[in-house]
Amino acid sequence: MTIRNRIALQFSLIVASILVVFSVLIYFISATYRREEFYDRLKNKALTTVRFLIEVKEVDQKLLKIIDRNTLTALFDEKVLVFDAKNKLIYASVDDQVIHFESSLLDEVRQRKEVETFSGHNELVGLLYQHDDRNLVVLASAYDKFGESKLDNLRLTLGWGLFVGISISIGLGIFFAGQSLRPISQINEQVSTITARNLQQRLDEGNRQDEIARLAINFNTVLQRLEQAFDQQRSFVSHASHELRTPLAALKSEIQLGLRKRLTVGEYEEILTNLMSDTDRLIGLTNSLLFLARTMESSSHVLFQRVRIDDVIFVAKDELVGAKSTYRIEVDYQNIPETETETVVYGNEDLLKQVLLNLFDNACKYSSNQTAQIRISTNAQHCQISIEDQGIGMSAEDVQHIFEPFYRAQNVLEYDGFGIGLSISAKLIELHRGTLAVESQLGKGSKFTISLPHL
Ligand code: ADP
Repeated sequence: MTIRNRIALQFSLIVASILVVFSVLIYFISATYRREEFYDRLKNKALTTVRFLIEVKEVDQKLLKIIDRNTLTALFDEKVLVFDAKNKLIYASVDDQVIHFESSLLDEVRQRKEVETFSGHNELVGLLYQHDDRNLVVLASAYDKFGESKLDNLRLTLGWGLFVGISISIGLGIFFAGQSLRPISQINEQVSTITARNLQQRLDEGNRQDEIARLAINFNTVLQRLEQAFDQQRSFVSHASHELRTPLAALKSEIQLGLRKRLTVGEYEEILTNLMSDTDRLIGLTNSLLFLARTMESSSHVLFQRVRIDDVIFVAKDELVGAKSTYRIEVDYQNIPETETETVVYGNEDLLKQVLLNLFDNACKYSSNQTAQIRISTNAQHCQISIEDQGIGMSAEDVQHIFEPFYRAQNVLEYDGFGIGLSISAKLIELHRGTLAVESQLGKGSKFTISLPHL
């Protein structure tokens, strides 16, 4: 069943139940009022008749019958019977017709003084009338023709009202459910036209207020992220092939040079040295690519544990300075940690070291004094590590792109590197639920700040 039909059905069921409950209530209340009113009229009739019979000496049975038959307010099929204490009928308002009742009814009336019951489809009232030691039982019965016909009319009106009301509510339910769900159908149509080839397409965000508009907005955000991811993937592949092609082309031309004519041993040595450096570059590049691929792949099953970030900083510093002795890395605490746990974060030591190595290396590599200043600071929620240098810096435009794989600024072309390190670092920090921010000024220096949440 479609959502539209389900909503319409639920709406109609609710409206129909309300209508049915109200109709039944109205009918029963009206029926009760009618019955009570009719019993009152029957009681009055019974009392008036017995009073005339017993208390008014001038009226005898014959005259009373005449009065009874000629009263304008007489009820339909009206009959009044009066019995004495021995159950002997002493007055009947009609000669031929009788009231059908159980013989026990007279005793019940004497006991309860007043009884309301039925005789066939007529209503019947029994009253105990006491006068001068005489205990008389009066039975009055009649058919409430007028009241019953009013009730029939009410039943008919309510029945038709119910039928029309429920039909209208079904129609309105289908109409309004269709109206409310139309934007979803439109979104459906638009979504079905989106493929990997036209990810730049966006859904209509309507009034940007209601739930469906918010669904479209969120979907558009997802589309935007997907588009970015696809673009990154595309540019990654083209950059990677370009980066691999350059050293391979250099290798090939070196080899061709060596094969063209006989060379001296010195010239062969030079070619081999060049081949060696190009091969090193190729190995470096493939290692970086492999690491990037592994980082993306295995990010979901990395082992996380308590890591003292200052320990990792010192290990990375020693490793880097050990490999490149001209680098200087100065580590400083902004606020001395009061407890050991203040520099503890939840993470993977190897991956965090990889990030720090990359940032320390960049800071030293891109500054003439080859010096990086590391500052550790902590607060209740985070542990921050800033890596600052007084190097070549970056333009605002470069800052926007440095986390994209293979992006290298124009001012670093004579420096070694592939432009992959920062994109790996950013992903690793994201994996640790931290942030990696950068401030830089061209020609003055750069400052990278890692912020990692505590445990
Ligand atoms: P690589 O250093 O191998 O080129 P990275 O991914 O580490 O690759 O850095 C990407 C780019 O960001 C660098 O090519 C450079 O343009 C810029 N960059 C990174 N760190 C610095 C820094 N400390 N000073 C100036 N530029 C930097």
